[in-house]
Amino acid sequence: MGEFNFSVILDAIRRSPDGLSRVELAGIVGLAAQTVSNICRRLLNQNLIVEAGKYGHGPGKPRTILKLNPAGMYAIGVHLDPVETNYALLDLTGAVAVHRTLPARPDGEPAEVIQSIAAEIESIIVEAGIDRSKVAGVGVAAPGPIDGAEGSVIKPPHMPRWGRVELREELHQALKLPVLLDKDVTAAVAAEIWAGGLSGTGSFAFVYMGTGIGAGLVLDDDVVRGSSGNAGEIGHIIADPDGPPCDCGRRGCVKVTCMPENILAEALKDGITAVTGLKDASLQESMAALSKAAADGDAKANALLDRVAERFGTAVSVLTNLLDVDHVVFGGPFWLHFEAKFLDKLPALLNELSVISKVHGLEVVGTSVSHEVGAVGAACLVLEDTFGPNANSLVLAEGE
Ligand SMILES: [Zn+2]
Repeated sequence: MGEFNFSVILDAIRRSPDGLSRVELAGIVGLAAQTVSNICRRLLNQNLIVEAGKYGHGPGKPRTILKLNPAGMYAIGVHLDPVETNYALLDLTGAVAVHRTLPARPDGEPAEVIQSIAAEIESIIVEAGIDRSKVAGVGVAAPGPIDGAEGSVIKPPHMPRWGRVELREELHQALKLPVLLDKDVTAAVAAEIWAGGLSGTGSFAFVYMGTGIGAGLVLDDDVVRGSSGNAGEIGHIIADPDGPPCDCGRRGCVKVTCMPENILAEALKDGITAVTGLKDASLQESMAALSKAAADGDAKANALLDRVAERFGTAVSVLTNLLDVDHVVFGGPFWLHFEAKFLDKLPALLNELSVISKVHGLEVVGTSVSHEVGAVGAACLVLEDTFGPNANSLVLAEGE
């Protein structure tokens, strides 16, 4: 019970960047002044919060303002992806202190890749100049499917040597730090909740545009993970009933119509010169060229991106209708190439296709999380697990 009050008070302070007095805190969390005072003393002793000046005029004692101590604790996030591996070190406020992107080794043996991730994390801790004991843990965001209970990734796409790998345990053995594993879309959602401001509150779907397309779900401020951590697999929602056949036996699924590689194939088939003229371009470079061509007025590029926007509208409306969300957030490494077109087209499309738009507004926004949302989100999962209102961890229970 004591630990629960701890997290509740820490969470209330976190949500008030300007700080709170003990009296205000007691009002917000509904605890007795003495309890709040005792817990604040413990939080101060552990350097998780700091006293940041006083305020108050007129009669009565001025009140001391309490704020989160950014350097009180840190979390590290890793985003495992077949193209690049991203790392982020976050301070207690969720601000990014160190960020690194390295080319992935999709053909590497899992054991080797895990050792190199561990080495990179050690070097990030050194670069940040922080005490290792201040690292609350490491969060790993991986493509699905995962086995959440076991902490395993299962045959991640485009990583042929990876079968079922107990990534969480192996990385923990290498680092001797607490390690969490979640799907990349779930991590993206955690980033939105911790660092995304207003768009990270309420009920929303986060559409993640990476090498694959997935959705993270938040209902009434709670992340929806499902029974094994795999909620949000939208690959076989039909986005275009007249689309190409899918390996599931139907036609026009998200998996065969909305992924960057599908869009590239279509751009080549349509003879969009900005794309066909590229040599040895990466998928990112090709999508950037397509997006620029559309912005520059290329009719074929615009027609293709219009079709893509319509497919996303069709697929995402299944989520908005099923879940009664109040907004949809887009993000992920390929989002920037689609941002202009989607923000122009999708609000009207989604409002037309969503039953709930008759009841309340349905906003479409891009993520406001800077840097790579998967790695930032993986670190946010650690902050959430350690300091969030439903915290599971031990850090606070120790070292009184
Ligand atoms: Zn399918």
